[in-house]
Amino acid sequence: MNDYPTPALYIDGNWIGSGSAGSRPVVNPADGSVLAALPLAGEEELDLAAAAAQRGFERWRTTPAHARHELIGRATRLLRSRAEAIARIMTLEQGKPLAESRREVLLSAEIIDFLAEEGRRAYGRLVPPRSQAVFAQAVTRVPIGPAALFTPWNFPMNLPARKVGAALAAGCSAILKPAEETPGSAMELVRAFHDAGLPPGVLNLVCGDPAQVSSRLIAHPAIRKVSFTGSIPVGKHLGELCARGVKRYTAELGGHAPVLVLSDADAAQVARLSVAAKYRNAGQVCTAPTRFLVHRSLFEPFVAAFVAGARALRVGNGLAPESEMGPLAHARRLGEMEALVEDAAACGARLACGGRRLPGPGYFFEPTVLIDVPESARILREEPFGPIAVINAWDDLDAAITQANALPYGLAAYLFTRDLALAHGVSGRIEAGMVGINHFGVSQPETPFGGVKESGYGSESGQEGLAAYLDTKLTSFGGIY
Ligand code: NAD
Repeated sequence: MNDYPTPALYIDGNWIGSGSAGSRPVVNPADGSVLAALPLAGEEELDLAAAAAQRGFERWRTTPAHARHELIGRATRLLRSRAEAIARIMTLEQGKPLAESRREVLLSAEIIDFLAEEGRRAYGRLVPPRSQAVFAQAVTRVPIGPAALFTPWNFPMNLPARKVGAALAAGCSAILKPAEETPGSAMELVRAFHDAGLPPGVLNLVCGDPAQVSSRLIAHPAIRKVSFTGSIPVGKHLGELCARGVKRYTAELGGHAPVLVLSDADAAQVARLSVAAKYRNAGQVCTAPTRFLVHRSLFEPFVAAFVAGARALRVGNGLAPESEMGPLAHARRLGEMEALVEDAAACGARLACGGRRLPGPGYFFEPTVLIDVPESARILREEPFGPIAVINAWDDLDAAITQANALPYGLAAYLFTRDLALAHGVSGRIEAGMVGINHFGVSQPETPFGGVKESGYGSESGQEGLAAYLDTKLTSFGGIY
């Protein structure tokens, strides 16, 4: 049974079932079947969305923070009550196992609730004046303005939730452009706000040709803030577009996370945690651990436990309860995985398990482990964004840290050791926006999520996530009149 909703654009409080740029199919990655036709916005609808977001902003910015919080809370209660149905839509369009989809919907509600609470605490301050002619200098934090939000297909609700939640909690209006591969989950997020009574224009949703949508919206005078999650080349390009209009920009551009396993770690336990973290969402996670740098004394037991865990994973349709890893999100990823494995093998790496696409319909790829991978291999420079782990041995900690820092990426990094003093010293030398010591859970609603170097700038979630949608304003009250 196809429970997939009929896709539509959402502009100024109205669902619009067709777009002036035609349509494209939404495909189920588990079997290649077409789920629905997605209407694509052309310039006409994009301009309408920008104008609606401008009107929505005028209304929403003057809505008291408490009232905003109450309305957002109504939307998150709806999300929770619909979690089961939305999880199914997410698995149909993206492929991840149903349990992961369910967790994502509930986590999205948590993220939005946290940000809405923070919205009530966007305090300013009073600065003592220098002169008797001034009786107060008030520093307040005000919403930046209409925001254009671009999200990818790997977390079809969580990533929109971080951006939409922060924008609305801060008093901004927004136009969300989710990935065209996975519009259904984002539509359900928007539907929850619509049903909760969000005024027209405050939140809008468009899909289209990504390059056309982003260039049109970012150049539009109504748009004052842009947030993007995706690849480094696209992130750089959007940064350039933002610079032309001096628009505030947040960029979350992926990573290539190193995992340093020190000689005192428990090889089997770290391998068990690592397999779960590596193959979650078929490895299509920007914080996914990928470059395992293991002390030589633990290398063999670590590889043995890791490979056993990877081989034991049950790969299949995300709707089947026994599936632990679903397909890749779209067909392009399969070719990318094959090319990375072939290149690594040609460079002299050893394939410890996996390495092939699975036969039959759908975009399934085996959980893959490459060991002893030489630095010349592409996979040691390019984010695989799929179910491939690299495990290499090291003898010298300084050299291992240098290797961990060798790439332009700097999103997440992980470190396993029982020696907390050493962990403190090593984590201080790791160039990453987030360092997980003895665990992989660095993404929480309350904690800032963001990278350094080419992994982007700015943070989402946490207090910082809200601050990204606020400007600082000084109002100075003279005492003459
Ligand atoms: P892609 O670059 O075609 O698309 C990535 C995302 O960016 C998609 O959501 C797409 O709609 C959007 N996009 C592309 N061009 C755009 C533009 N000009 N303006 C606005 N949005 C645009 O690549 P892909 O094949 O889908 O994925 C390839 C790579 O993207 C992955 O290897 C990974 O490195 C990166 N990626 C990163 C994340 C992340 O969470 N950081 C998520 C998805 C993909």
